Amino acid sequence: MTGSLTVVGLGPGNPDQMTPEALAAVAAAEDFFGYFPYIDRLDLRPDQQRHASDNREELARARAALEMAAKGGRVCVVSGGDPGVFAMAAAVCEAIDEGPAEWRDIDFSVVPGITAMLAVAARAGAPLGHDFCAISLSNNLKPWAVIEKRLAAAADAGFVMAFYNPVSKARPHQLGDALALLRRHLPGEVPVIFGRAAGRPDEAIRIVPLSQAESGMADMATCVIVGTVETKLIEREGKRPIVYSPRYFKGSGP
Ligand code: SAH
Repeated sequence: MTGSLTVVGLGPGNPDQMTPEALAAVAAAEDFFGYFPYIDRLDLRPDQQRHASDNREELARARAALEMAAKGGRVCVVSGGDPGVFAMAAAVCEAIDEGPAEWRDIDFSVVPGITAMLAVAARAGAPLGHDFCAISLSNNLKPWAVIEKRLAAAADAGFVMAFYNPVSKARPHQLGDALALLRRHLPGEVPVIFGRAAGRPDEAIRIVPLSQAESGMADMATCVIVGTVETKLIEREGKRPIVYSPRYFKGSGP
């Protein structure tokens, strides 16, 4: 008997930002695979099993979940934010693509979640109001030269950028290098939003011009949004400014 495998996005951390569809998928599953802090967020029943693992073991975790589903299990793989954004959904797809033919019979589905850049953007105003892109600054899975090329191209093309995985203990210099590169392509006034732990009790949002942005303002729980020359700041007395990217492009053409 073939079972099911659902990859579920838990949102950025605030239970109110988890969708009813995600809650229903969690309630319907028996076995849960995922990075342990995400598994720990779930309020599971005694009949539901946790299979928490380290974050680096994505493919191994995907294969273990698929093996259980192939034997008839009702399996849930969880990710923070959206599972399709730098997370488990692609790892499960890759495992199916390369795995035994019977894994294609598994009832496979993906339940979306609110991704970090949307949670951070909502806190700041509407910085993603015009064209934007998302870039992971982790060079665990791609060479740093590729990241540099994409940063320069996105800045020159006028995309707002959201950076995921901006720094880690193993990669302390990435964000500083990225900001130095961007300062060669964008004016110093462009707003930069450091959104840490959006939706969680320890949330912190900081807005600075690119000229003052530093890598020490981010940690691995931070999503960094870099505006464009079009992105505007509405200053407010005693309150954080509102940042937005207007819907209409007013600049000169390419
Ligand atoms: N699938 C996740 C992203 C996983 S990559 C999503 O859709 O949000 C992990 C990175 O996501 C972190 O390094 C950080 O850049 C970002 N991130 C995750 N949760 C966050 C939160 N609550 N606030 C800000 N950034 C967050």
